[in-house]
Amino acid sequence: MLLEVSGLSVNYGHIEALRDVSFGVEQGTVVALIGANGAGKTTTLKTLSGLRPVRAGRILLDGKDITKTPAHQRVSLGLSQSPEGRGCFPGMTVRENLDMGGFARKDRKSAEYRSDLDRVFDLFPRLREREKQAAGSMSGGEQQMVAMGRALMARPKLLLLDEPSMGLAPKLIQQIFSIVTEINQQGTTVLMVEQNAAQALKRAHQAYVLETGEIVKSGTGKDLSADPAVKAAYLGGD
Ligand code: ATP
Repeated sequence: MLLEVSGLSVNYGHIEALRDVSFGVEQGTVVALIGANGAGKTTTLKTLSGLRPVRAGRILLDGKDITKTPAHQRVSLGLSQSPEGRGCFPGMTVRENLDMGGFARKDRKSAEYRSDLDRVFDLFPRLREREKQAAGSMSGGEQQMVAMGRALMARPKLLLLDEPSMGLAPKLIQQIFSIVTEINQQGTTVLMVEQNAAQALKRAHQAYVLETGEIVKSGTGKDLSADPAVKAAYLGGD
């Protein structure tokens, strides 16, 4: 297992946002965490990134206990998050945003770094065209690409995606999910949280359903897509 989360509980004051959450992400897979508004999806990712303290539980990355490791060190250990919505630096150019993602790397002048940039530009050709444009003047979908590209520049072992399809037009939603699959096929393990359950389950090897802070169901993406309760609650009942 690349990531092992066990018995995770997280509070906001008196509000229990996560209660005894346990799940795993196997190396090389795409794992989806689905759930309604307020289920705790973003909190889970923030906690994995080190932006929220845990009340109880343990997080292991590659067998190493990172439960109390500061956020910036988790990036160096291989965890990188693409935040929800327009999570890029609006006043910086596309290229500067991508370089911010590679900030923790010491090889920024190397051929390897250049080839990682090219990989991002191959995944998102629009970013190559707009390399010098201010990220804040890009469309919502393009900013999503900047945020994902920035996360990839950290060379993560595990890429955390918070609602990659949020606010995108249907055609772009398909495209973003295809890119998630491509990123995975290139060797990056992916954990994504999504409200677009149909698409997320289609792409996920393994999936978990989060309801009011608890994992209530798990299975392969395919199994959960066929599950009557999941269909009724998250897939429009068809
Ligand atoms: P959405 O799909 O709407 O983004 P989510 O599944 O990501 O929802 P979270 O944002 O993780 O859900 O929220 C989980 C719970 O924690 C909710 O009840 C929410 O109101 C609460 N919560 C989140 N952030 C805070 C905060 N900063 N202060 C207090 N409560 C919070």
